[in-house]
Amino acid sequence: MFEWSEQHRMVRKMFRQFCEKEIAPHLDALDTEKMLPYPIMRKLYQQFGISEMLLGEYRKQIDKEKRRAAGEELPKGEKKTGSDTVQMAAMRILPIIELSRYVPGLVTAMGVSVGLTAGAIMSRGSLAQKERFVPDILSLKTIGAWAITEPGSGSDAFGSMRATAKIDGDQFVLNGEKTFITNGPHADTVVIYAKLDRGEPLEQRLPVAFILDGDTPGLTRSPAFRKMGMHSSPTGQLFLEDVRVGRDRLMGESLENLTENRSAAKETFGQERFGVAAMALGMIERCLDLCVEYARVRHQFGRRIGDFQLIQLKLAKMAVARQNVENILLRTIEMLGMGKSPSLAEASAAKLYCAQATMEVCLEAVQLHGGYGYMAEYHVEQLARDAKVLQIYGGTDEIQVSQIARSLLG
Ligand SMILES: Cc1cc2nc3c(=O)[nH]c(=O)nc-3n(C[C@H](O)[C@H](O)[C@H](O)COP(=O)(O)OP(=O)(O)OC[C@H]3O[C@@H](n4cnc5c(N)ncnc54)[C@H](O)[C@@H]3O)c2cc1C
Repeated sequence: MFEWSEQHRMVRKMFRQFCEKEIAPHLDALDTEKMLPYPIMRKLYQQFGISEMLLGEYRKQIDKEKRRAAGEELPKGEKKTGSDTVQMAAMRILPIIELSRYVPGLVTAMGVSVGLTAGAIMSRGSLAQKERFVPDILSLKTIGAWAITEPGSGSDAFGSMRATAKIDGDQFVLNGEKTFITNGPHADTVVIYAKLDRGEPLEQRLPVAFILDGDTPGLTRSPAFRKMGMHSSPTGQLFLEDVRVGRDRLMGESLENLTENRSAAKETFGQERFGVAAMALGMIERCLDLCVEYARVRHQFGRRIGDFQLIQLKLAKMAVARQNVENILLRTIEMLGMGKSPSLAEASAAKLYCAQATMEVCLEAVQLHGGYGYMAEYHVEQLARDAKVLQIYGGTDEIQVSQIARSLLG
């Protein structure tokens, strides 16, 4: 079974030192939105050579695609397996775990830009689009946003989608509105979904994706929304008003295989769910650490509160949640090493459990701290507000339940 190695532990320690030095002093500024997450993200990437690591992987893939395009015979569909894949997956999630102990919002902003936006272009973009947009996102020169949700379409993202793309000569004209878009207020590159309108009834239209620059004429945005938590992750609305783009902006630069856009977006949800498990581990661990410390030092009725069985029960349940979430992560990493990825139902089960466990642990952490837990000065207050969205974005709890049930019932 895959376990954290000594090297992983050392790397985690280094990320934690970074968080203590570069993030902890700014927690309040990040949570009150006086500070944007991007400069810290850039510092992190620079200090740990993360861009170089991601760009190295990117170049390998591009090189393969170019050789294939030049007619060279390369083994097709070969799944990546082995210890390198395991190491790469582990190394990718260690910063997510550590950063989530402090600012899960920053992880959300980073994950949407590097994971979802660059990931979507790498999976469905043309070679030219990959070369044009992806290196800048991976090096954080530009910030990405991934926009599917609309005011009237969330869980039923494609079914109720109203944004349209009409063909006009060799151009597309985009109209519509997107909401709850992470990085929306600041993004330089936006992957945006719309339904291709060739005159068919709405329900028959197929989804298409476009890659837009943030300053494209006709694309406007709202300021960041005020929200319950994740304040270090700016969320906003995007408006498309007669946005005219050429085919070079159409994801993949082709109108063939449009039905694949749905499955591509589903793949993206799968990645998002793995990311949520790593965030959950960081948040749960942080709450547990803070609670154990508090239970040792806080005294009531002449005893430390850790001596009360009801407090012990809370700590024990947090420790069980921590162990379960960690096991889910370790299993997923191990599967990736075997060239397998979790089924949609498995990913849904993991996301459902991790999100619910995080919410429960964070609320219990507030409770364990009593009145102090309700005060912004105590970190559990921020984590409890941040945790709620894990049950909403990347597919709500209810949607995960229905996906699990579908796999059981057929
Ligand atoms: C902070 C934040 C960041 C986000 N970032 C992004 C982003 O970067 N890009 C993006 O595209 N979107 C983003 N989203 C949107 C997010 O993915 C949606 O909010 C989510 O999918 C739910 O959609 P909805 O809000 O429209 O709720 P709805 O779909 O309207 O759901 C309302 C309620 O009905 C329930 N429900 C819906 N359908 C069913 C069903 N079939 N069975 C049972 N119950 C059901 C839901 O579970 C929920 O409880 C973000 C959201 C938030 C809050």
